[in-house]
Amino acid sequence: MKQKGDKKDKMPFKRIVSNNLFALKTIYAASRSYIFIFLASSILYGLIDFLTGSYLLRRVVDGISNGEQAGSVIAYVVTVTVFSLLIQLAYSWYWNVISPVQQHKIEAYVEKKLFRKAAQVELACYEDPSFYDRYIRAMNESYRRMNQTMQALYQLIWSLFTLSANSFLLFLIDPWLILFALIPFALGIFRRLEYVAAYQLGVEVDKVVRRKYYVCRTFYLNEYAKEMRVGGMYEAMLRDLKSTYKDYLKIMRKYGLQRAILAYIQRIGLEVITILGASFYSVWSAVFIGAENGGMSIGDCIVVLGSIGTVSYCLNGLVQNLAQFGEHALHLQDIRYFLDYENKIPAGHLEAPAGGDIAFQDISFRYAGSERYAVKNVSFQLRKGERIALVGSNGSGKTTLVKLLLSLYDPESGQITLNSKNIKEFTHSSYRARFSTVFQDFKLFSMTVRDNVLLRPERDGDEALVQTALEESGAAERVSRLPKGIDTMLTREFDDQGANLSVGEQQKLSLAHVFAEDTPFVILDEPSSALDPIAEYKMFENMMRATENRSVIFISHRLSSARLADRVLLMERGEITESGTHAELMAKNGNYAAMFRRQAENYLGSEVAEHA
Ligand code: ADP
Repeated sequence: MKQKGDKKDKMPFKRIVSNNLFALKTIYAASRSYIFIFLASSILYGLIDFLTGSYLLRRVVDGISNGEQAGSVIAYVVTVTVFSLLIQLAYSWYWNVISPVQQHKIEAYVEKKLFRKAAQVELACYEDPSFYDRYIRAMNESYRRMNQTMQALYQLIWSLFTLSANSFLLFLIDPWLILFALIPFALGIFRRLEYVAAYQLGVEVDKVVRRKYYVCRTFYLNEYAKEMRVGGMYEAMLRDLKSTYKDYLKIMRKYGLQRAILAYIQRIGLEVITILGASFYSVWSAVFIGAENGGMSIGDCIVVLGSIGTVSYCLNGLVQNLAQFGEHALHLQDIRYFLDYENKIPAGHLEAPAGGDIAFQDISFRYAGSERYAVKNVSFQLRKGERIALVGSNGSGKTTLVKLLLSLYDPESGQITLNSKNIKEFTHSSYRARFSTVFQDFKLFSMTVRDNVLLRPERDGDEALVQTALEESGAAERVSRLPKGIDTMLTREFDDQGANLSVGEQQKLSLAHVFAEDTPFVILDEPSSALDPIAEYKMFENMMRATENRSVIFISHRLSSARLADRVLLMERGEITESGTHAELMAKNGNYAAMFRRQAENYLGSEVAEHA
């Protein structure tokens, strides 16, 4: 989807300023003193550079030509040197002792802001490549860009100060010299074009790099290790990797020549026209016209030769700086877009009630870019304390229904109510907090067993809670054999003693979370897919006991578990086609009964299945 502000190379001046101000304001909010000290030091540095550079040269040349006493010239040199040494000392201390701490503080502040937002954006955003690319760019660039904006401001203040002081000196010597100094400004347009090209290159390269990183991950991550060793996946991924290299080179070639020409024009303008031009002019004025005919004195000529380099360097830096602000603004736009993004799933201000009846009223939903309804005209009620089994073949819409219930997607039509109130009237956080959920593609975190069961900061008395939850989910025995029990880290990524559990064991652990929480609603999306039939049976039995007063929706591909539910809903092609208790649906002898018998035959043989 095309977003506001996508025409990045035509960003208006006002937005460039506002984006850079946004970065400075964010840094200011994170650390007030840092920004002031940082910017004040740029003025001090400018002052030192001037006093120990052009002004020192002029002072010495003037002193000698005016027959001044050597002592007063030396006194000036010594004073300036001592001043410079003291400032350098303070600067070095601040830069190495104070600054790293402050920078870390700012980084943490910015990350916190971004992560908070990331947890809020709706799931559909992750499926929109243009949003996702922006999101990744915002995450990767955020702190670095803000820091660079501040450094650009530092450079700007330093350049302006040094430039004013040196230009004033040149102006006093010969006002025409200022013309040479203005040339780098004219080169600014090329600098701007260069930055726009750099940004566009970055955007194109990002896409390739994202793909490349994905392919690289498949070579070294544990979760792909098996597939990469069997079949032709290794070759296929290698081919993909080669194609990303090719795409990368293509992009580099596309922008390489353009950037080289732009850089060359700037160098010629600066070094040939400004520096050599001003040097020729002052030598000509001093040697061919001479001071006695209104030309420059030899002393002034030496000062010009000494300071024109500084002036053009500052001017070039200034132009570069202004263009840099433009470049930073482009990236900061991504960060701002992301932070300003309003979740498209409407939410109200009401606190969700602690339980009650949930009703789906004629709900239909299609995924973005899809013609087909994933869920169509679905209506049903989940009454307080009721357990519903949601069954149906793969792709029939069960998970989508659950995601709609959790308000992770917004239905296209119809409404979902909790205690007769549309769930859009509740805040997302209070509403979602009423659910304990285990998804089919659940992920455990590289944290301790305890953290993975609680999935929240720990409180007093949690140890016993975790232990009971592990027993209920059937994971207690395995956890007791881990080196540090519930304090064992999962995965060995950060701890040599960490545990690598089998998928079934991981599933039991993720289920323990449901037992550790006392929410009114429980959603289990194929919680037993990796368990063997006996473990599955025990788990469901425990679950029914532990969730006695809670409303439960569970999706299971093994229909034997559906018998434990108060009601079974059969989904086919996004619609609920059968609804009733297991016995009712078996008596109805429809698709559910046929599916059930087919499965039972596989486990028990056809005769037993007939009597199920
Ligand atoms: P089930 O849970 O019954 O296996 P799902 O709810 O996952 O089915 O999927 C229902 C339909 O929606 C399927 O056709 C599936 O391909 C499609 N679908 C699921 N997730 C997405 C998605 N993120 N984007 C687009 N289509 C999706």
